[in-house]
Amino acid sequence: SRFSIAIDGPAGAGKSTVARQVAERLGLTYVDTGAMYRAITWKALQQNIDLQDEQTVSRLARETDIQLAPGKTGTDIWVDGKKVTDEIRTPEVTAKVSLIAGQPEVREVLVEKQQEMACRREVVMDGRDIGTHVIPDADVKVFLTASIEERAQRRYRESIRRGFEMDWEQLKEEIRLRDEKDQRRKHSPLRPAEDAVHLDTTGLSIEEVVEEILNLSRT
Ligand code: C5P
Repeated sequence: SRFSIAIDGPAGAGKSTVARQVAERLGLTYVDTGAMYRAITWKALQQNIDLQDEQTVSRLARETDIQLAPGKTGTDIWVDGKKVTDEIRTPEVTAKVSLIAGQPEVREVLVEKQQEMACRREVVMDGRDIGTHVIPDADVKVFLTASIEERAQRRYRESIRRGFEMDWEQLKEEIRLRDEKDQRRKHSPLRPAEDAVHLDTTGLSIEEVVEEILNLSRT
């Protein structure tokens, strides 16, 4: 299969920034799978669908057209032709996305879309289950981590930039909760692939992490 790089890890470890730059440097396509789970969450909220109703949510996922493209401050995303780049990053979507990410049928639909993308193009894909489940034969697998303090700090800065005022302690607690839900769910929980290279990004610059992954890609 095509060359691919899988980057997994908890919220705020720096996955998307790093993955995007690695993709740029190598001329690959960056795929932000978290944005896809957020997109379905946003659409379900928009339509007042009960997020616990697995059948309705998975039907919604199947019927939804999701397009990703590199944007100015991250991935631009279109849901059924409407640009929802900012809408999928609100605190409400962030707080509720784990609810649908735990549902096996939704995961099946989105994983299939992701595998199609990796089939058509050489990708750098980031998420929670990319190395374990979506592209188990990826050429490079990286598991990014960072201390909870550092991860919360990154999310804090990102929230401010997006215009959301966040309480520091509350934000830290939310990240911890989301990680716990992602790690404990039954279907494709967040965990490193056996052959993933672990990279603790605490105290490292983006450039250092990018270089490290570029080195792994050369061997
Ligand atoms: O990466 P991001 O924080 O945008 O992901 C949002 C949520 O989507 C995660 O907390 C997780 O519940 C879910 N997710 C997932 N599998 C992926 C990517 C994201 O379950 N591959």
